[in-house]
Amino acid sequence: MRLFAPPTRVAACLSLFLFLLSPQAHAQDESQPAPLPVFEFHSGFWLNLHHTLYRQARLQRSSSAGANAVAVSAGMNNLTPAEARAWNSALAFYTKTYADKDLTVSLEMILIKNQLGDFETCGDLSGTKKKTCDAGLPAQLTQTLESAAPVYRTHLWPEHDRANRRWISAVAPLVRRNGLDLSHRLAEIYQTPWPRERIRVDVTSFASSTGAYTTLDPLRVTVSAVDARNQGAEALEVLFHEASHGIADVVQDAIFRECRQRDKPIPRDLWHALLFYTTGEVIRPLAANNQNPSATSPGSISPDNNPSSPAPAASSASSLSSGYVPYAVREGLYRRGWENYLRVLTQYWQPYLDGRVDFSDAVAHMVSAL
Ligand SMILES: [Zn+2]
Repeated sequence: MRLFAPPTRVAACLSLFLFLLSPQAHAQDESQPAPLPVFEFHSGFWLNLHHTLYRQARLQRSSSAGANAVAVSAGMNNLTPAEARAWNSALAFYTKTYADKDLTVSLEMILIKNQLGDFETCGDLSGTKKKTCDAGLPAQLTQTLESAAPVYRTHLWPEHDRANRRWISAVAPLVRRNGLDLSHRLAEIYQTPWPRERIRVDVTSFASSTGAYTTLDPLRVTVSAVDARNQGAEALEVLFHEASHGIADVVQDAIFRECRQRDKPIPRDLWHALLFYTTGEVIRPLAANNQNPSATSPGSISPDNNPSSPAPAASSASSLSSGYVPYAVREGLYRRGWENYLRVLTQYWQPYLDGRVDFSDAVAHMVSAL
């Protein structure tokens, strides 16, 4: 969830170039026999390694100022001297090259992320073992990832992959039960067709400071399996909020048009507050139907009963028994400068969601009331 910047468009020519190099490996990691609707989940080795190095490089930098020393070394305490050398040199490269870049807006980081996702089934990235596995990444990055790979595979990947798959198992029944209806509803609200292809979701141990983010062209979601904000029924809201980034152009354009016509400055991130509000309101009745967590009526949300699933976070358990609390409320987003947005969304956007006013009138009223 990027809170303070518009979505980034990836340069088409570069994307096309990297797409042509792709081995088209799109493994479905969910164990259910029938494919899930709407989303396609992946737990990929290279992308998880990349995000782990990125996160540790950033933590290491801040730990030199005294913070997060434990988090930096977590899971990496028993390295042999050779492993430690390989890992530290990878961290040094990431600190120098990528730690200052934003995963969610840097074109370079987005292209690397997409490419590592596409090559997830490859044993290497240089194409040495298999020609089609030449990912076309910068040579130093390829070499760094390949030398850090055995260390990651031994010490962290089993745990990360297990957590990713647990998260996928927990969220899959929610997507199966509610995904199509939610996608139709959101497409109708945003007056934009839902993407025809299933949306790729890369599940990772770390997925930016916000716990999830989305990149466009192609539309892809990255979500952290272990972030407390993404657990239980709330995971469904996070997924659909993220996916809504891909169909938000019409509402963004309408807001901008109304502002221009009224000669008003464009309210910063109003469109994003609207996305949060809308997903929360669309999910809320599904969750509210489920006052009894054991109920599994169609259209209701309940966490997976899989015993290997992690226990839902406390907020999830309470939201299921006492009414669903949307993400933006739970995380206090409206209290951090969006108070006015909540007011106009409740007053003018909600009637549109209820079918009482049309899209253009709702947007016009919101903008004129700000
Ligand atoms: Zn967002």
